[in-house]
Amino acid sequence: MKRILTVVILLVFFNVHAQGFDAIVEAETKSARQKVNFVKNVNTENYDLKYHRLFFEIDPSVSFIDGEVTSYYVAKEDLSQVIFELDRSFTVIKVLQRNVNLSFNHNTDNEVVITLPQTQNTGVLDSLTITYSGNPKHSGLDSFEQNTHNGAPIIWTLSEPYGAMGWWPCKQDLNDKIDSLDVFVKTPRFNTNNQEYFSVSNGVEQSQLIEETNKTTHFKHRYPIPAYLIAIAATNYETYTHSVDNNGNSFDIVNYVYPEDLVQAQTDTPITVDIMNLFTDLFEEYPFASEKYGHAQFGWNGGMEHTTVSFMGSFNRNLIAHELAHQWFGNKITCGSWKDIWLNEGFATYLSALVVENLDGNEAFTNWKASRNNTITSATTGTVYLRDSDTTSVGRIFSSRLSYSKGSMVLHMLRKKLGDDEFFNGMKQYLSDANFAFSYAKTEDFKLKMEASSGVSLTDFFDDWIYNEGYPSYQIEWSLPSSQVIQFKLNQQQSHPSVSFFELPVKVRIHGTGGETQDELLNHTFDGELFDRNVTFNVASVEFDPDADLISKNNNVVLSNRIDRIDLELKLIPNPATTSVRIIKPNDVIITQVSLYNITGQLVSIYENQDYINISHLSSGLHFVKLETGSGTIYKSLLKQ
Ligand SMILES: [Zn+2]
Repeated sequence: MKRILTVVILLVFFNVHAQGFDAIVEAETKSARQKVNFVKNVNTENYDLKYHRLFFEIDPSVSFIDGEVTSYYVAKEDLSQVIFELDRSFTVIKVLQRNVNLSFNHNTDNEVVITLPQTQNTGVLDSLTITYSGNPKHSGLDSFEQNTHNGAPIIWTLSEPYGAMGWWPCKQDLNDKIDSLDVFVKTPRFNTNNQEYFSVSNGVEQSQLIEETNKTTHFKHRYPIPAYLIAIAATNYETYTHSVDNNGNSFDIVNYVYPEDLVQAQTDTPITVDIMNLFTDLFEEYPFASEKYGHAQFGWNGGMEHTTVSFMGSFNRNLIAHELAHQWFGNKITCGSWKDIWLNEGFATYLSALVVENLDGNEAFTNWKASRNNTITSATTGTVYLRDSDTTSVGRIFSSRLSYSKGSMVLHMLRKKLGDDEFFNGMKQYLSDANFAFSYAKTEDFKLKMEASSGVSLTDFFDDWIYNEGYPSYQIEWSLPSSQVIQFKLNQQQSHPSVSFFELPVKVRIHGTGGETQDELLNHTFDGELFDRNVTFNVASVEFDPDADLISKNNNVVLSNRIDRIDLELKLIPNPATTSVRIIKPNDVIITQVSLYNITGQLVSIYENQDYINISHLSSGLHFVKLETGSGTIYKSLLKQ
């Protein structure tokens, strides 16, 4: 899911448009409110949903539903009653099982508690049908919206995360996907302006049944789906399709758009095919290729990734990419709890950046990453993975900064750490793992999968970037100990004490006086680490993290006038001296050779690797000591008494 305002920030510089960023946070905060208020309903955990047949009779000009929902479910324990969740604003008319009326109670907890005529034993499949009607409660996230566009009536739904019970009797927890689904939407055939209504839902349209003044459209979806990804919409849609070749196994992208926006939509949506092909190449075939993909225009200012048909307010490339990405990350594999929300939103955000990288090129991709890093480091704290206490904070769960931006950049840094081959291979294995595919996954599941596929331990990486807080700031000193060698010294500070050190490969770009460039990767494992690299040109400057691959801030690159510092700190003691002299120097300086010259410039003695030099054999008077270090040569004077 994504508010359109998020797109704005991608197109502009954060510091210029801080107001835009605030608007995003507010939008995400609003959308999180229902999640936080939600209380997990343990009363719906004792059965396993197999199938729903959803029948809705609606008129897009009236906020009302006549519904009939048939559910097939297997008992996970011996059942004497079955509970579904349905908002109390509805009237439950009857509950039928094999044409027998069952008694029920629609209680103040918005539960329909159905008493079974006899115990349904563990493992037994059965079904029942709930018939209900009413005016759906308009919830904060527009779970059911009746409105108009350009004067034409429309009804649409957006259930994420817990709005499904606002329009049909369901189970909302993230633990039981519905294995398969048929949806029937019955509407008047025409609106009062004689414009024909078209309905849309998940899966493939099977039929449009015309009966006098009504039309019933049947959709069939045969993949496991959680309640929050089921949706319907109906208005005077225009439809058109794009075909995806899919290596000869073609399927359609079906667009349902407002007539007044048809021309613009036809300009905006063809890119969906390119993005589909890109994601297919990078990861795997579109998960629902045997059905369809599609877009349905609706009145919410953003997008929602309903399985096989993303609902969008308008169509721009970034939003198209984000919602399409969710079909793999969010819909095929759904986050196993809301603490793992970055597995949905961080991943979809990163996939939209892969579109920038592949369609616009590296410079645009670098700008995208730099913009994310600005957002992420606008505060020094915050984890990607939610702590239990975070779930009481409304703004935290759907934090644009942490769940979307930091989640996406951490995924990018994981790619940089593992390399492209290992990263994309691991992502493919994660997507195809039978434990997660068309089911749920948690952060540890993803970590273990990436470790198994790459052979790299990711405990430190996940601890630093997912479970703990903050980011590093780097101090990079560089020097030229010889014409062939450049030396780097890397220091790092952390913005939050939960991480003692971020072990990371750090890229530097060396610029030459003749326009040359040379990139070097410095695998930074401890503070103050020194790196020597050969260089074949005259160095003019050094650039830190030139591709904005790291979440970091307040980095400083300085040309270390190292030899001057060594000269200051290096001392001969005592001086004047009679028999021997001690060489006092910084710990990281190695003296490779010491040469002694007399006042006339004659070489008197050479010493190798000496901390002490013996001068008892010298004649009295002024001498010069030449000290050769890894960083250059230093001259000191010495008075022999
Ligand atoms: Zn999203």
